[in-house]
Amino acid sequence: MIKKRTKSIYIDGKWEDLDPSKLVTVYNPATLEPLTEVANGGGVETEKAIEAAAQAFPLWSSMPGRKRSTFLYKASQLMLEDAERLGEILTIEQGKPLKEAIGEVKGAAQFLLWYAEEAARSYGEWLPSSISGKRMLVIPKPVGVVGAITPWNFPSSMITRKLGPALAAGCTVVLKPSPETPLSAIEIIKIFEKAGMPAGVVNLVTGDAEAIGKEMLTNKKVSLITFTGSTAVGKYLMRESANQLKKVSLELGGHAPLIVFDDANLEKAATLALASKFRNNGQTCICANRLYVHESIAKEFTTLLKEKVDQLIVGNGLDDDTDLGPLISQAACEKVQKHLDDALGKGAHILSGGKQLDKNLNGYFCPPTVITNVTDDMIVMNEETFGPLFPIQTFTDEEAVIQKANDTDYGLAAYIFTENTSRTLRVSEKLDYGIVGVNDVFPAVPEAPFGGIKQSGNSKEGGHHGMEEFIEKKFVSIGIER
Ligand code: NAP
Repeated sequence: MIKKRTKSIYIDGKWEDLDPSKLVTVYNPATLEPLTEVANGGGVETEKAIEAAAQAFPLWSSMPGRKRSTFLYKASQLMLEDAERLGEILTIEQGKPLKEAIGEVKGAAQFLLWYAEEAARSYGEWLPSSISGKRMLVIPKPVGVVGAITPWNFPSSMITRKLGPALAAGCTVVLKPSPETPLSAIEIIKIFEKAGMPAGVVNLVTGDAEAIGKEMLTNKKVSLITFTGSTAVGKYLMRESANQLKKVSLELGGHAPLIVFDDANLEKAATLALASKFRNNGQTCICANRLYVHESIAKEFTTLLKEKVDQLIVGNGLDDDTDLGPLISQAACEKVQKHLDDALGKGAHILSGGKQLDKNLNGYFCPPTVITNVTDDMIVMNEETFGPLFPIQTFTDEEAVIQKANDTDYGLAAYIFTENTSRTLRVSEKLDYGIVGVNDVFPAVPEAPFGGIKQSGNSKEGGHHGMEEFIEKKFVSIGIER
């Protein structure tokens, strides 16, 4: 399915030839087999791509939104029609089970569809003047050329969640995907190409993160950098973009608490806690990283959860019965092990998992593990694990558990399980998070604003809010004769 070498730099509507001295290998994390080689681009290629995006900007930004939307509609349709094949590519480069991968591709297409609809709805304002000889307009203007940097954990939807609103708003884009998962990015660019997108509107550069990032940061033709990834890299981009006062939209790491109150529907809570923690094998920015369960129902809840976790099947994502694929790298496995060893060393007990896996598995596999007897000083209760380790702590007091949930620099997503309406509102209001899921762990949808507060980010993706990131508001003040 995949060729020995794959062109991965797309500038001004053309795929660039590969330089044989500058190639990087892409591996399948489930088998450790090489899949293909792609370009290791850098500053030179990025500068060229930015120039192409800048040249394409006047045409694309002045096109009526309704016309821009036709390209996004077409791309969304093409993506949906090809979801099975694209899902397979996503699984072999990223590892997640095929059904999750196909689901991600279909979700990625939904972002394009949503922003195809929004493209025609970029409204300005008419302001009533307090001076009689004056008329005042606020005109929405696309910010300009956008540098988009994306991670490997959702290699398809993290791209369309940025490119959809950027293109709908009238911006042109240079995309730098993760080196672990360039193939999904290449497929998305091919879809835009097939949809007839004018040359230069979308450009792709794979390769050296530091060099590509540096060019995006220092090139004055880039007006905004939109980044999804770790908090550490997000802070670096924010610091460096200050030199030119570039806009930076950041979607960063999380450390989500999931709280199960004593009035919760326990079967629902256990099923959804499992879905939240183990989707994409715990490699999800909004996945529950720590679970707080009310002491009075802890035994019943943990029994239910254990039964479910014990049944999870770890394997190659292409196998039909696989629930959990591999992690992305050896370093990811080591991080999970470090968090587990630290917790066990401080007195945690294994409730489920932590056992040996099938010896025939050669990739970056790691068993799903649930631990109890967890204390606040354990690393797992303070840092994003990004893997299949689930710590459970009990609580008795609503205020105290809210305080614990908020006691972190992260502020992306939090979850509560309760059947009480007053508690739903009271606790949702008090949780310092950009997203609160109540009896729901799937809040990432095209129509709603997704994003963190505190050190989890400074922007929103999704909904009309997501498009506003890419729009400047220009004020036109007109003096008139009366
Ligand atoms: P990462 O290491 O920060 O990398 C993200 C992207 O940034 C990659 O393409 C990476 O390329 C690039 N990058 C790294 N250093 C750079 C630099 N100096 N200049 C420019 N680009 C640079 O994060 P990750 O490990 O891929 O992703 C996992 C993290 O993303 C987790 O913390 C997760 O919570 C977060 N995440 C957040 C959201 C959200 O919506 N809030 C969604 C998904 C994931 P290289 O790999 O080549 O360094």
